[in-house]
Amino acid sequence: MIGKINRRSFLKVMGWSGAGAALSGCDLPSTVTLEEGKEEVVSYLMPEEYVIPGVGVWYASTCTQCGAGCGIHGRVREGRVLKLEGNPDAALNKGKLCMMGQAGVQGHYNPDRITTPMLRTGGSLAAVTWDQAMAVLEEKLAAVSGDRFGWFTGTMSGHQAALVANHLEAMGSTKHYVHEVVNNAVSRAVNTDMLGEATPRLRLDKAKMVVSFGADFLGAGQSPVHYAGQYAAFRTNKERGLLVQIESKMSLTGGNADLWLAIKPGTEGILALGMANLLLNKLKLSDAGIPSDVRAMIDDHDITRVARTTGVAGHRIQRVTQLLSERSPSLVLAGATVEGHAHGYAATAAVMLLNHILGNVGKTIESAGDFPFPQLMSRQGGTSDLLAFAADAKAQQLDAAIFYGSNPVYSAPQALGLGEAMANIGFKVAIAQFPDETVMAADLVLPVDSYLEDWGTQVPANQAESNAIHVQQPLMERLHSQTRGLGDILLSLLKQRKSEEYAQFEDYYAYLRNAFAAMPADVKQSAQNNNEFWNTALQTGVINVESGARKLQSTVVSFAAPVTEGAADGLSLVPSARMGLFDGRHANLPWLQEAPDHISKVVWDSWAEMHPDTAAKMGIANLDLVRISSAQGSVDVRVVLLKGVHHDAVAVPLGQGHEAYGRYAKGLGVNPLKILDATTDAMTGELAMFSTRVTVKKIGEADALSIVRMGTGSGDSQAGRKLVVTVPVEQVKRSEGA
Ligand code: SF4
Repeated sequence: MIGKINRRSFLKVMGWSGAGAALSGCDLPSTVTLEEGKEEVVSYLMPEEYVIPGVGVWYASTCTQCGAGCGIHGRVREGRVLKLEGNPDAALNKGKLCMMGQAGVQGHYNPDRITTPMLRTGGSLAAVTWDQAMAVLEEKLAAVSGDRFGWFTGTMSGHQAALVANHLEAMGSTKHYVHEVVNNAVSRAVNTDMLGEATPRLRLDKAKMVVSFGADFLGAGQSPVHYAGQYAAFRTNKERGLLVQIESKMSLTGGNADLWLAIKPGTEGILALGMANLLLNKLKLSDAGIPSDVRAMIDDHDITRVARTTGVAGHRIQRVTQLLSERSPSLVLAGATVEGHAHGYAATAAVMLLNHILGNVGKTIESAGDFPFPQLMSRQGGTSDLLAFAADAKAQQLDAAIFYGSNPVYSAPQALGLGEAMANIGFKVAIAQFPDETVMAADLVLPVDSYLEDWGTQVPANQAESNAIHVQQPLMERLHSQTRGLGDILLSLLKQRKSEEYAQFEDYYAYLRNAFAAMPADVKQSAQNNNEFWNTALQTGVINVESGARKLQSTVVSFAAPVTEGAADGLSLVPSARMGLFDGRHANLPWLQEAPDHISKVVWDSWAEMHPDTAAKMGIANLDLVRISSAQGSVDVRVVLLKGVHHDAVAVPLGQGHEAYGRYAKGLGVNPLKILDATTDAMTGELAMFSTRVTVKKIGEADALSIVRMGTGSGDSQAGRKLVVTVPVEQVKRSEGA
């Protein structure tokens, strides 16, 4: 039994106000009559006619658990959202959802949500009213203008992103720092230069073979559900697609590959040039369009040299290259481990060069077309903005900053000095759901609705075969009376600066309705009027958008030769992102803490993956405690020995090591981001996240507690719970790396 609910008014605002609204995916009768003027709480023994106890209603909305923007259906029963599934009407994810999306309800109902505005007074944060909070904010921002003010966010799109841009314009600032730890910023730069588009459509489903240099497109990639769908088609096509994964630490995608090849960290670009050498000089493919300096560089990478440098056997390189030439069209991908080096642009360009030689551009790499609403398009993040922000803060260039959807205090390497530099920013505002590390450093905290309570639109950066805007609507009334929608907060800020322009909008709901009404007729398609268009958009969760046709170019740019880097001693640190905790944003969700890592099977902790041979040389045994030290600091963590790691690498997953962020995240494991060097890619300025060299030293033995806690001990079981049953690699003989 639920106490006080006012579901009728909630449903009205959700577009139910017209009698007989059809429900997408609903398991109620498709016509429902709403009686006006009856607002009192009723017992479920006498339910209102559209609330059938025990019967769920499904509403369409959009997932914001990562930047991909999948369509969702939420099952709502007795006024509360209980279960999320994929929206079949969303071509991006076709009714599917990943585990991070499934866990969205745990963030929504999380007991550590911030439930009231807070203002720093006397060194600590104390509850204030919204009126007090907005009055302080207005006073502080009135004293700031130009580039001494900035927004710091994660990837954003849709009408909320447009309002952030409007607010920056109203403040006279150009400073929108967009930060994502898991990003493909270097690939976007290469794509722009070589294809003419930053984010073209990748068509795994059309490829007969995929060679992935560390692109974990099934796991912690840019749109894992979308690419998992394409991967299913790739595997079930008449000619079953062949997947080769080349990386220094086995990812979820690598675990699914037909052939997994271990490569010395940072040498992927060299291998790509070696393969280009074979394609041109041995298999006699055309070198048309390749500049002479790049052609000379290719010729310089003979198979003997490349095999020696990369550690990949020459016969393997030859076989994979031969298969690529035979299985056309193919697709060659570069992932974060290729991009994240001082020569990241060059290595990524070398990988894209293979697509040019193989003629894949236009076949498995297509233009995404001209999206007709550029102001709504995804503003994708990287790490260069984090560096710029830290530099601006250090140089005392910022008087005020607003943080939303990103946690830079957690994710910035110590080498950037951001923790200390935050004190230089005059006034820090965090719009947040949870008390994470950045919130704990803020001066003013504004509690925001969960995405299951809020309005919005999202435009996926990686679109499906057709382009779409995904609609986000509240699936239930807000749980906590003192949270506010992001759009409503943005409108309040804009009204402080441009009251005459924004006073017409009572709230963000009104703003969105107006924005939808203003969309051109071709977007509204067969809708008879604006109400019908609005209701249809809410029911389907998707607005399909025609985009102007474009054709990709296939230009090979000159780039510097990728080189091996780092000292000869020590190991390369691989800070690996994974589906689940992702970049750390989901560490406060117990379902995702409990979900075993796909490769190591560890739960609720950090670990370091090392190759058994490497560990043996250092006198390290499975589950021993080691200290991993870089020039920037160290982390202490237990070792899991796996053959899916290159001899020259030690991998520590991202996600743990929070010093705040609520009861489920705080104090668990370590954060490898903290000990990264501040090296950057020479061309893009992106952080070279995979270029830090470390030493590993045993500081403690395995103990009984760690064996049970980490669940990787004497058997392939989760502390005896058999959550993940595995087959030893020796029995399979499909992978390589031993
Ligand atoms: S890929 Fe991202 S947007 Fe899609 S369901 Fe998973 S978390 Fe949500």
